[in-house]
Amino acid sequence: MIILLLGSGGREHALAWKMIQSDKCSKLFVAPGNAGTSQIATNVSLNILDFEAIKTFALAENVAMVVVGPEDPLVHGIYDFFKNDANLNHIPVIGPSKVGAQLEGSKEFAKEFLVKHKIPTAAYDSFTKETVEKGCDFLETLQPPYVLKADGLAAGKGVLIIQDLEEAKSELRNMLVHEKFGTASAKVVIEEFLDGIELSCFVLTDGKNYKILPTAKDYKRIGEGDTGLNTGGMGAVSPVPFADATLLEKIETRIVKPTITGLQSDGIEYKGFVFIGLINVKGEPIVIEYNVRMGDPETEVVIPRLKSDLVELFQAVGNQTLNEVSLEIDERSATTIMVVSGGYPEDYGKGFEITGLENIEDSITFHAGTKLENGKVVTNGGRVIAVTSFGESFQEAIKKSYQNIDKLHFDKMYFRKDIGFDLF
Ligand code: AMP
Repeated sequence: MIILLLGSGGREHALAWKMIQSDKCSKLFVAPGNAGTSQIATNVSLNILDFEAIKTFALAENVAMVVVGPEDPLVHGIYDFFKNDANLNHIPVIGPSKVGAQLEGSKEFAKEFLVKHKIPTAAYDSFTKETVEKGCDFLETLQPPYVLKADGLAAGKGVLIIQDLEEAKSELRNMLVHEKFGTASAKVVIEEFLDGIELSCFVLTDGKNYKILPTAKDYKRIGEGDTGLNTGGMGAVSPVPFADATLLEKIETRIVKPTITGLQSDGIEYKGFVFIGLINVKGEPIVIEYNVRMGDPETEVVIPRLKSDLVELFQAVGNQTLNEVSLEIDERSATTIMVVSGGYPEDYGKGFEITGLENIEDSITFHAGTKLENGKVVTNGGRVIAVTSFGESFQEAIKKSYQNIDKLHFDKMYFRKDIGFDLF
């Protein structure tokens, strides 16, 4: 079958890498893709929010499945666009419907869903410009630190955690009255701070059945020892060592099952990934967010650990027969380390030639911000390349990634030297 994958990051390179290993995939297009995807699939220059252009391409190329990497096309309704078009509705879209995508597109929608289906989450209330003073009163009833969340998509920057009450009130006003995050902060969710360790749980669902994928944990800050600015993620490990059988059982019964049955009972179509951000508070898993797609860089450790055929899994998602397919997992530890452009997550340069890729041994390089220029691979974003390795232990996997990163070079290259060091 001919498949079209939307997106251009490390996540999409990892999904592409896995999909082309399937006998069921005769051709893979990636729109727009990066230098890494161009080496294993065919990149297509399409705007992933231009659904008419995607339609024209899909029909011209006999595309039989569309896999959506990032959240934007989902929140804008690509699933519904295909479903509601008589010429396209035979093509499954792997991702949720527009309403389902609101689990990520609106923090308030997600909180209402969690509360309605009695899924553990932090206590909260939400406010608008009209109720900003009530929001300030609500902050006074909470203990610091204060958690303020812009309701809408804010490129991963819409969550503020603030120690000081007066500063929290002032930021609340900035968000609601002065539109700090534009329309994304027209509503703000204020929630109780949860003190615990974060982990992520990934689920693939056909709307009725589900498979729980390996757990992962990412490293968000730019600096060693988890210091400095937040990034899209500087590395990830899978599995999460503290996610033992007891915790996983709680996650499945208290969170995953009610999420899937809740979607069903609310009549929300959902055929894709659910990424559940959790905080483990003294052994109790509590949801802090839903995302409606895989995480990046978590995909770069979760997907390589799947032994099963990903295209077969996606087909089963489309046909709602996920219960008939088995999920096999590689038991080894996987780690990925993100190599970034110096200056990221603030200003950084682009177009630096990347050398040494051909010398990588026993690790997988997933390209993130790269492109081909005159036959050379050059940097084209802040996060540039993820180096994924397997090992019998985390030490072994991490060592392999660092040894291989030493063979890579580009101007102002930077990476964290402590990914996974908290695990041993
Ligand atoms: P979110 O986009 O909701 O995942 O929030 C971004 C980050 O803020 C999370 O990865 C957590 O580190 C932190 N966070 C969000 N909500 C809470 C909370 N209620 N308590 C503590 N930390 C939180």
